[in-house]
Amino acid sequence: PPRIVIAGAGHAGGSAAAFLRQYGWKGSIVLVGEEPNAPYQRPPLSKAWLKGEATAESLALRPARFYAQQTIEMRLGTRVVRVDRAARRVTLSDGAVLGYDRLILALGARPRALPLPGAELAGVMALRGTADADALHAALGPGARLAVIGGGYIGLEVAASARALGAEALVIEREARVLARVAGHTLSAFLEAQHRARGVEILTGVEVAAIEGEGGAARAVLLADGTRIPCDTVLVGIGAVPNTELAEAAGLDCAGGVVVDLAARSSDPSIYAIGDCTQRPLPLYGRTGRLESVPNAIEQAKQAAADICGRAPPPPEVPWFWSDQFELRLQMAGLAFDVHEAVVRGDSGAPGFAVFHLDPEHRVLAVEAVNAPAEFMAGRMLVARQARVAPAILRDAAQPLRDLTA
Ligand code: FAD
Repeated sequence: PPRIVIAGAGHAGGSAAAFLRQYGWKGSIVLVGEEPNAPYQRPPLSKAWLKGEATAESLALRPARFYAQQTIEMRLGTRVVRVDRAARRVTLSDGAVLGYDRLILALGARPRALPLPGAELAGVMALRGTADADALHAALGPGARLAVIGGGYIGLEVAASARALGAEALVIEREARVLARVAGHTLSAFLEAQHRARGVEILTGVEVAAIEGEGGAARAVLLADGTRIPCDTVLVGIGAVPNTELAEAAGLDCAGGVVVDLAARSSDPSIYAIGDCTQRPLPLYGRTGRLESVPNAIEQAKQAAADICGRAPPPPEVPWFWSDQFELRLQMAGLAFDVHEAVVRGDSGAPGFAVFHLDPEHRVLAVEAVNAPAEFMAGRMLVARQARVAPAILRDAAQPLRDLTA
C-alpha cells in the first residue's frame, strides 16, 4: 500500500497524521519522532505544566490509544537522518530505510543558542520539550533566583510561572521594550508594568556579555556595562531556529524555513513541510513568513492532508496566537506589518482592553487583546475581511463591534 512518512512527531506532525485519516487516507502512515514522547502540546510547558498544574494526559495531543486505533505507526526516539528524493526513501537513525509516496517534514524549531561565554554552565537552560520544562521546574521554587535572557513570550511566561512557584525572576531584554519583535508598544508597556507589579524585575536596553560560573554552575549574568546579576538559574529565551538541515541536505528550497505554498508543498511535489520549520505564504499580507504557533501547525497540517487526499485546500486563516501570564489571557490575531495607527479600545492600564492596528486606509491588520475575548473575536473577523473601520468606532467601547463583523 502507498505510504506517507511524517518526519517529526510534534504538534504539526501529529495533527497531520490525524487529518490524513479524517480525510480518508487508507494507505500506511509512519510517524517518526526524535523525542521519546507521542505528540504533545508545548504551550503548557511554560505555563500550567511548569507550575506543576497539568497532567501528562492533558499535555498529550491525542489519547495514547488513538494511534493504534487509527493504524498510525509510531517510530519514537528515532530521527530521520537522510532523505533520498530520487529513490523516495528516508533513512532513520536506527538504520532502517523506509520508502515513501509522500513525505511530510514537520521538524519544528529549536531554541537559539546563546553565543556567549558561560552558556554551557549547569543551570543555563532553554525550553522546548518536556525534559527542559521538568529541569526548569526542579530548579524553581521559593528562594531560587531566575534570570531570563530575552523578553519574548516564552521568557515572560516563564518569569510569571517562576513567581507563582515562589522564585525571584528578572528579565533581561536587549531591545528598548519586551516583545519588541512581536507586539505593539501599548501591549509591551502594559506587560512590563504587570510583571513589575508582581515582583518580576525587567531590564530593557541592556546587553548580556557572559554568564559567570563557580564550580561549573551558573552564578551570575554579567552585562556589557559591567553589572553583575546574581542568579542560580538562567533561562535563555532568545528565539527559535527552524530545523531545516534535513531539507537543505536534500536540496529543497529553504529561506529561513522550508519554502512551501498554501497547500504546504515544498519545491519537491512529493514532499510537504508544515509547522515551525516552514517559510509560508501570508496571503492577507502579500508576503511570506515563518509562524511559530499551534494554530499555524494545525492549519498547515490540514493543508498537506487535504492536498494529499485530493481535497480542496482549506481557506487561509488569520494567523493567531495566545499567551497566559499571571491571570492575564493575551490573544493576538493578524500580523502588525507596516502599521499606520494603533487604536486602543478600553483602558490600556488594566486588563480588559484591546489594541487594533490599522493601515493608512484604516484596514484592520491585527488585534491584541488582554482579557478581552469579544474584542479578539471581532478583531480576528475584521482582519479576515480586511475591513476598513473608522478609528473613532474602534476606540469607543460603547460602540458594539458585533455590528461591524455581522
Ligand atoms: P514541534 O512541536 O517542535 O515538533 C517538531 C518535532 O520534530 C520535535 O519533536 C522534534 O524533536 C522532531 N524532529 C526534529 N527533527 C527531526 C528529525 N530529523 N527526525 C525526527 N524528528 C525530528 N504556540 C501557541 O500558539 N501558543 C502558545 O501559548 C505557545 N506557547 C509555547 C510555549 C513553549 C514553551 C514553546 C516551546 C512553544 C510554544 N508555542 C505556542 C509554539 C508551539 O508549541 C509551536 O508552534 C508548535 O509546537 C509547532 O509545532 P511543530 O510540529 O511545527 O514543531
